[in-house]
Amino acid sequence: MTAAVPARLWPEGMGAVDVRALLEARQVRYALASFVDLHGVCKAKAVPIAHLESMLAGSELFTGAALDGVPQDVSDDEVAALPDPASATVLPWRSDTIWLASNLQLNGEPFEACSRSILCRVRQQAAAMGFRFQLGVETEFFVLRRGADGGLEPASASDNLEKPCYDLRGLLDNLGWLDELVQAMNDLGWGVYSFDHEDGNGQFETDFGYADALVTADRVSFFRLMAREICRRHGLLASFMPKPFADRTGSGAHFNMSLADPASGANLFEPEPGCAADTSGGGISELGRCFIAGILRHAPAICAVIAPTVNSYKRLVVQGSMSGFTWAPVFICYGNNNRTNMLRIPAAGGRVECRAADSACNPYLASALLLAAGLEGIREGLDPGPANLDNAYRLSAEQRRQRGLTTLPRTLAEAVEAFAADPLPRQVFGEAMAEAFINFKRQEWSDYHADVSDWERDRYLELF
Ligand code: MG
Repeated sequence: MTAAVPARLWPEGMGAVDVRALLEARQVRYALASFVDLHGVCKAKAVPIAHLESMLAGSELFTGAALDGVPQDVSDDEVAALPDPASATVLPWRSDTIWLASNLQLNGEPFEACSRSILCRVRQQAAAMGFRFQLGVETEFFVLRRGADGGLEPASASDNLEKPCYDLRGLLDNLGWLDELVQAMNDLGWGVYSFDHEDGNGQFETDFGYADALVTADRVSFFRLMAREICRRHGLLASFMPKPFADRTGSGAHFNMSLADPASGANLFEPEPGCAADTSGGGISELGRCFIAGILRHAPAICAVIAPTVNSYKRLVVQGSMSGFTWAPVFICYGNNNRTNMLRIPAAGGRVECRAADSACNPYLASALLLAAGLEGIREGLDPGPANLDNAYRLSAEQRRQRGLTTLPRTLAEAVEAFAADPLPRQVFGEAMAEAFINFKRQEWSDYHADVSDWERDRYLELF
């Protein structure tokens, strides 16, 4: 994986008045002060460029009570968006508009429950320990069109193979919108290094360079917006739902993580010499092993955040794909280059990939909690135990018991209760955000559970 160098739209340290002149010269007319809700979905106010100075100083106010996961009462003062100039991005489909990721403030103070600020806080803890958190996220998603019968089908009609993974015809048939998307990503300096047809009909993946976790989280939230918009212009729907179809693979968002020395940039997860990824615990440094152990300790609680929907748990199963396996983890284990581990150490080594995360996660909250758990593992010098080098899907219950492999939460309900029972998320999110998350997700489960599905009628209506 290559690291991407963030492209800055304006020189660091340039004053707001000069910035406005620079943007006006580029025909920029609007700036978006954007932040995310609980779901990691962008919310914003648009500001004509003449008001850029006041916007950069926090003029744009929002009523948190109008949104999921911006825990406020209707009677509270509004939160203000404080845009981060380093995140400024020209919309590839509208060159007269720039997007800025923002942190929320309340009465001039950081708003504790802001997703982006939560990641910033854990990043600071990492910096105080001498680490920079580097993150690359693999974006998997479906691109679909409405068929004549109103149902959703793959974007190209011939995309109907039983094993469509890496299918070249499927890729070429979709090159129109894919080219536009990849070009846009590269114009933004994201360093796309490959893209392919994934394992489900209508499913694709675009991989771009890793970067500081904050930069990557900004990019992932912007990517969902951009893919949707570019596909919409082609009459297509880009969906980041984790498992839209019962018989096709789901859409993961594998988090590839490492810690670097901020001064030298050296990757601190590089394995000690002679410690290959196919040996127990190999492929990663001792520091990386402690990081892994911290994540394993908190895996059930983390799962609620990295796999945050009812639908996420239909992806975290062994089968449920036309090509046999889902390639998504079910057990809490780590190990070598094998895809059945929740935490995989790819053959190249020097990083750990969390495969449980899906494309619907809030990338700020997900990376904050993963990082906090990993730092705890380092602080306490935790040992992850022996690596799992086998196909975890095929281990018997007895083998799993012997190896101490437990199961990831099987439903959103289980995951949310694990989140509520673990003290770490409250420390990381703050009390108000942790409560908002728990309440929202409990309600989401209960709404789902109150529904009676076709499956139930088919199974039970005439059975007894
Ligand atoms: Mg993939």
